[in-house]
Amino acid sequence: MKDCMEMPINHETSNFKMYLDTLSILSENSDDYFYLWDLKSGRVWHFGNIGEKYNLMEPGEEYCMADRWSSIVYQRDRNELEKDLKMLERGEMDRHNMDYRLLDKKGKTVWVNCRGTVQKDKDGTPILLIGRVSEINLRYKVDAMTGLFNASKMQDDIETIFSEMGTGFLMILGVDNLKNINIKNGREQGNQILRHVARALEDVIDDAQRIYRLDGDNFAVCIQGTESEAILDTYKQIQDAVHTECTLSAGVVAFHNSTRRDIGSLYQYAEEALDKAKKGGKNRLEFFLEEDYRKKIAEIELIEELQHSIENDCEGFSLVYQSQVKSSSHELYGAEALLRYDSPTRGRVMPDEFIPLLERTYMVCRVGLWVLQTALEQCREWRKQYPDFHMSVNISYVQLMQPDIMNQVLGILAGSGVPGDALTLEVTESMHLRDPKYFNYIFSEWGNAGIGIAVDDFGTGYSNFAYLKNLNINEIKIDRCFVRDIQKSSYNYRLLHSIFELAMESQIHICCEGVEESEELQVLEELKPDLLQGYFFSKPCEREQFESMYFI
Ligand code: C2E
Ligand code: CA
Ligand code: CA
Repeated sequence: MKDCMEMPINHETSNFKMYLDTLSILSENSDDYFYLWDLKSGRVWHFGNIGEKYNLMEPGEEYCMADRWSSIVYQRDRNELEKDLKMLERGEMDRHNMDYRLLDKKGKTVWVNCRGTVQKDKDGTPILLIGRVSEINLRYKVDAMTGLFNASKMQDDIETIFSEMGTGFLMILGVDNLKNINIKNGREQGNQILRHVARALEDVIDDAQRIYRLDGDNFAVCIQGTESEAILDTYKQIQDAVHTECTLSAGVVAFHNSTRRDIGSLYQYAEEALDKAKKGGKNRLEFFLEEDYRKKIAEIELIEELQHSIENDCEGFSLVYQSQVKSSSHELYGAEALLRYDSPTRGRVMPDEFIPLLERTYMVCRVGLWVLQTALEQCREWRKQYPDFHMSVNISYVQLMQPDIMNQVLGILAGSGVPGDALTLEVTESMHLRDPKYFNYIFSEWGNAGIGIAVDDFGTGYSNFAYLKNLNINEIKIDRCFVRDIQKSSYNYRLLHSIFELAMESQIHICCEGVEESEELQVLEELKPDLLQGYFFSKPCEREQFESMYFI
C-alpha cells in the first residue's frame, strides 16, 4: 500500500489510505471482490484473489487501468456497462448496481453483480467509486446450460424493468417441437438447439440482461418500446437467426397496456398468446389480447358452473323438444330433444356455446346419459297419449368413444320401458365416423334393440355418401345449409336429388332439417323426404308448450 500513498491524486490522501486499508480487511472476510476506482486517473484497485481467476493483474500489481477491467467484461455486456460508468463519471448517478458477465481465464462467462457508491469532493465532483463484485449473488440465478439468467432472476428483476422501461413488452419464445427433437435425435441435440437460441437472442437483443431461459423450451425477453411493428421486426430477426436449427413461436404482452402489471399475470398473458401461436400452426407470433382473455375466463367460469350443475344431478339443464313431422301429411312423428342450460349468472345458454365445453372436458358423457334418460322418460309419458311417438336424441362423438357407451345406452333404454324402435340416436357426421369397423359393431348392437341411427348435419363438412354406405345407419338429416332457399338454387336441388336417390337405394330414411319457409317446403316435398323438421312447423319448445300444441 506504500506505493499508492505516493501517488499524485487530487483528493485527501489520508481518506484514500483509510479506504484502501478498510477494503483490504473486508476482502479477507468476504467471498466478494472489493474495488476502489479512481475516476480521475482511471486506476482501479482490486482486493482479494480476483487476479487468480480473471486475467486482470500481474502478481505484485496493486491496481490496473479501467480498460483492463473492460477487457475481461463479456463483449456483449460492455456497452451497457460503459453507459452506466459514463453516467457515474458525469455525476448523473451516485450508485452503480449492474449484472454483467466476466470472462475468466479459461474463457468461461461468469455472471457477476457489481455494485458501488460514488464519493465526491468538496465541489461535488465524483472522484471515487467504491464497491464490490459478487459472483455468489447470482450463482442460483443463472441457467447452467445456456448461461442466461433463469426464471427466478426474471422474478427479481421485473419490478425494476417495469419502472425503468416504463413502456415495453414481455415476449415468451418457445422452441417448436423440441420434445420431438429430443426423442428423435437425443437430448444433447435438444440442448445444443437451446444454446444456439440463447446466442441468437443475445445477437438480436442488445440488452442481454433482459433475456431469460425459463423452464423447458421457453425463453423470455423484455423489450422496451411502444411499437408493435418493432416487436414484429425483432421477432423476424430472431427467426432468421435460428432458422438453420429450429423455429420459434412467440407470445407477447405489452406491459404498459395491461390492466395488471404483476409478473404472475403478465407471464400468464404472454403464455396464453404463445399457446395461441402454437395452436395456430407454430413459427409465428401472437400478441395477447385482453378480449381473448376475457372470453377464456368466461369460458372457465362457465365450465365451473356446468361442473357444479352436473355434481348436483344436472340441475340447471333442461330439454326442449322440436317436432318432427311426416312428409306430405305433416302428421306428428315425434320430437328431437335439444339440451338447454340455465346458468345462475348468465341465464339461458344455448348448446352451441356449452356443448363444445362439455365435450372438451368429457362432461358430455354424464350429461348425455342424463339427456337420454330424461328424453326417454318424456317419450314414455307422451306415448300414453300418442302410442307411436318417437324420440330423437343427440349423442356426441366423445360419448361414442367411451368403452362402455354401448351398454349404458342399452341399460337406460331397458330401464325406461320404451321400445327401442321409438328411439333414434343422432350422431354428427364427422371424421370420426370414418372408422366404420368400430362404429358398426355398436350401431348393429343398438340396431338389434330397435334403436335407429341418424347421421346429423349431413352436408356440412364431410359430405360424402360413399362412406355412409359402409355404416349401419337408418337415417340422414339434411342440414339447413342445403335446405335454405332450395327453391332458388338449382345446383343444391340437383345435389339433393342425387343424395335422395342414393339414400333410397340404401334404404336410408331422410329428414330435412331447418325448414322455415313454405317455398322451401314445397320444393323439398317434390323430393319426397320421410321427415321434416324446422321453424315452419315448430320451434324447439318446453314440455308444456309442446303438449299444448300437440296433445290437448
Ligand atoms: P342439431 O342437432 O343440428 O339441432 C338442430 C338445431 O337447429 C337446433 O339448435 C334447432 O333449434 C335449430 N333449428 C331447428 N329448426 C330450425 C330452423 O328452421 N331454422 C334454423 N335456423 N334453425 C333451426 P340448438 O337447439 O341451438 O342446438 C344446436 C346444436 O347443439 C344441435 O344441433 C346439436 O348439435 C347440439 N345439441 C343440442 N342438444 C344436444 C344434446 O343433448 N346432446 C348433444 N351431444 N348435442 C346437442
Ligand atoms: Ca340433431
Ligand atoms: Ca342438425
